[in-house]
Amino acid sequence: MITPRTTRLVRVPDLYTFRQATVDLACSGTPFEARNRLVVVPTRAAAAYLLRSIESRLPASDGALALPDLVTPGELAARLGERLLHHPVLLTDTEREVLAGVACRTAIDEGSAPPFRLRAGLIAEMMRFYDTLQRHLKSVDTFERLTLGALEPGAAEDRGAERLVRQTRFLVGAFRHFERLLETTGGMDEHALRRRLVGEPAPDPWRHVVLAVGDDASDRHGLCPADWDLLTRVPGLERIDLVATDAMVAGAFHARIHRLLPGIEETRLAIDGRRPPPVLLVPPGGGLTHTARDREEEVAGFARWVRREVRSTDAGAISDVNRMALVVRHPLPYVYLAREVLSAAGIPSQMFDALPLASEPHAAALDVVIDFVRGNFGRRPAIALLRSPHFRFVPGRLPPSLLRSFGAPRKPATTSEGEVASALDPVDVAVLDRALSDAGYLGDIETLERLVAAWREQKPGSRPGGLRAAEVVLDAARQLAPLRSAAPCAAQLAHLLAFLRRHEHLPRADDPLRPRQLRGRAAVLDALTGLRDAYARFDQLAVDFDAVAAVIRRWIDAHTFAPRIGEDGVHLVDAESARFGDFEGVQLAGLIDGEWPDTPRRNIFYPPALLRELGWPAETERLDGVRASFSDLLRLPSSRLVVSTFTLEDDAIVAASTLVDALPGAGLDTSEVGSPPVRIFDYEALGLDPVETRPLGSLAVAAAARRIEAIRTRRAGATGGHEMAAYSLNALERYQDCPFKFFAADVLRLEEPPEDEPMLSPRARGRFVHEVFQRFFEEWDARGHGTITVDRVDEARALFQDVAGPLLARFSEAEAMLERARLFGTAVSIGIVDVVLGLEASRPAPVRERWLEYRLEGPFSLGVPGGPRIPVKGVADRIDLLDGDRLRVIDYKSGYAPNPKRALQAPIYALCAQERLAERDGRPWRIDEAAYVAFAGKRPLVPVVRPGAADADEVLRSARTRVMDVVDGIGRGEFPPRPYDPRICSYCAYPSVCRKDYVGDD
Ligand code: SF4
Repeated sequence: MITPRTTRLVRVPDLYTFRQATVDLACSGTPFEARNRLVVVPTRAAAAYLLRSIESRLPASDGALALPDLVTPGELAARLGERLLHHPVLLTDTEREVLAGVACRTAIDEGSAPPFRLRAGLIAEMMRFYDTLQRHLKSVDTFERLTLGALEPGAAEDRGAERLVRQTRFLVGAFRHFERLLETTGGMDEHALRRRLVGEPAPDPWRHVVLAVGDDASDRHGLCPADWDLLTRVPGLERIDLVATDAMVAGAFHARIHRLLPGIEETRLAIDGRRPPPVLLVPPGGGLTHTARDREEEVAGFARWVRREVRSTDAGAISDVNRMALVVRHPLPYVYLAREVLSAAGIPSQMFDALPLASEPHAAALDVVIDFVRGNFGRRPAIALLRSPHFRFVPGRLPPSLLRSFGAPRKPATTSEGEVASALDPVDVAVLDRALSDAGYLGDIETLERLVAAWREQKPGSRPGGLRAAEVVLDAARQLAPLRSAAPCAAQLAHLLAFLRRHEHLPRADDPLRPRQLRGRAAVLDALTGLRDAYARFDQLAVDFDAVAAVIRRWIDAHTFAPRIGEDGVHLVDAESARFGDFEGVQLAGLIDGEWPDTPRRNIFYPPALLRELGWPAETERLDGVRASFSDLLRLPSSRLVVSTFTLEDDAIVAASTLVDALPGAGLDTSEVGSPPVRIFDYEALGLDPVETRPLGSLAVAAAARRIEAIRTRRAGATGGHEMAAYSLNALERYQDCPFKFFAADVLRLEEPPEDEPMLSPRARGRFVHEVFQRFFEEWDARGHGTITVDRVDEARALFQDVAGPLLARFSEAEAMLERARLFGTAVSIGIVDVVLGLEASRPAPVRERWLEYRLEGPFSLGVPGGPRIPVKGVADRIDLLDGDRLRVIDYKSGYAPNPKRALQAPIYALCAQERLAERDGRPWRIDEAAYVAFAGKRPLVPVVRPGAADADEVLRSARTRVMDVVDGIGRGEFPPRPYDPRICSYCAYPSVCRKDYVGDD
């Protein structure tokens, strides 16, 4: 039975009276009436603000007053359903999507294939489309009739229309199967509930509904036509009050509301104390809006204003930061920015808004595990898993005696919470990272097993330090390996959940981030559990892990998370919720095109004209709603208003919103912000002249003082003097390239991050090539073959093959094939062996003695007897001692040869060898040649000192001078980021630590 009801449109002039009227209506009458009253507000944040207003009205002694129920439009049907005799449990969104997936497959099996590839995200979009149809009171039959009626006539000639027809048939088929599945499984969703609510009186119905929202045509949080229809027909409801400002009903909403609620009466609530509009604070020098460079600067501007108000002694100044708000159209990215900027300015803040769950640390931790499985347990995801603070892995598979041989404690340490602490050391993880990279490990559990087995067989002293970490990775990979085979989604999710729970590492009890992290963890685990249960109930199809990962990621991306940040301080609030807040000062921020008003969400299935046929609201109605809302917000604060925009979004120029055109006609008095800028951030205190360190914390003051003194007295990039026991030529060349690069690699000993190579790493290949040449020449010389001449090249090549064979056998088949091709060439390329033998044969100097991989270590005067001696260390690839007391130095480069004018290795090795030979033989030796043989680039032979060249002494002197200069620079502690050519920065490993942005500032 439908009961008669009173429907009223309560009109109010502004947001102040809107809030008063809503509170009055929410609290009116007896406690019994309040208990049967629903107040519909746009968001949970709005509900929290309204509740504060209600509580502020209550006398202190009246704390037990019954409050109405505050709901959002999305919760309305379910809350009405709670009063039914057997109140239904609605299917969750997860369960509906799983059912929709089954329905889609059935539709495809029956021949209605969609013109697109079905993915988890598309199924979600389909359900959104289905819900919107239902909320606009369009059944599947009506959708089919209207859509096919519009599309079929042109489908024969128009391929686009024909595609839409196929899409419509698929959607219709899937939606019908979905509704059938709902019936057969006994599930109920919001649409079925609305039908039940209309036909089944509740024994104790809700009797009064107060609406503080508009309709969904003009308000993105408004009620849909199905809700308006429900409110007019649900039995037992006696009264509906819709509260709306004059701005809201000034446009088409007025006519629509009379259509949606036939017979609605209009009234004005008499509310005392209408207050004057706020003063608009404008920037000095003209204009009504404050324009910042970007969002961050805009929030910084808000922080400055807050500080100015709080410090001001003006009569009208706002002294309480709790009464100020930053109001934005879209909370993202302001929720993150505001937290950073406001806390940097020392301003407390509070926000109710939901944050994306995907940005919570636990969601990132879940991603790490997913990547580990999808990446086939490869090096990068494996190391990321070991380094994640959200997991704790204890090496447990090794026998204790073996563990102790790696330095593990005899008894596992325990934390304050009594947990067994991880014995895994971060150093082990770093070592494993390097070892896996050097081994060319790209994933695959069998390869990992082989590697770990090989490392375990090595003697204790020579085992890689990261073996314990490798054991952990292998153990984790074995636990997750079942996920790499197809299985029902529920089983895969259960397996994943078990892994997460087994290895999770919760923050310590005294960790300030613990509450938030625990809530984030609970939200992630809830999402996974909900998915597992939904699939277990409705869909047992076996799928591979990629499909499971797509479903998980879609759900995590779609979920939000409400951490309730801050208890007091300035408010960060979205425009709809702000209507319910009581503020003295408000900044309307982010007034850019595409945000105020926002760009409408695009429907991916049909064009706007067809959607209008299906009941989608017109764009003009939406824009009217945004304008009305903006006009209301201009009078939201009781005292002061600021309106701001910005010009750069991600380096793209953005235009100001057209809504700012409404400011001149808003009837607001203006006042110029005249106070001088206030320094509120540390960077301002330190970066502006004169430097002001007083506002910084004591630790920062001390650090800043040291830094200021260092800048005043010394040049950038300087440290205390540095001396090395011995200088490797590689390190000296590094300093020559860029002093900071030397500092990072050789003083700080920062390791370059390992890279995944599809085959051998460059370092491993270099070692291999050097070893092959060393073995070849040793064998050649041992056989007494002497000089390699043209007629002995074939013999040399054959020996090379004999020598290389056993070395190549160490590699996998694919790696060996590739390295063999590099050494011996292919039909289209010349091999390294042929390059070297060709060079040897073209200059057949008789070699008296050959030093291979010859270690040069100790103090050398580098060609100036009696001069200062430099401690040098290095290994020369090859030093040939020729007839006539001449020597030749050859250095092999697996890549390109260095620029001969900058090269140090070949000439300095030659000088060292010359010195050593003179000491040995008691007579002088002459440097005949120093050259590089490069296996990449156009020139295989790059000489530094040419045989018989007149400038040989000059070249060697220059190399010595450069070495002395470099050693002096190191001794003085000069390590500025000063690349000899800025292009080397693009492949340098240290750009993140050297502040290379400042290169060239001196
Ligand atoms: S990135 Fe450039 S400036 Fe920085 S350390 Fe490397 S080479 Fe030097």
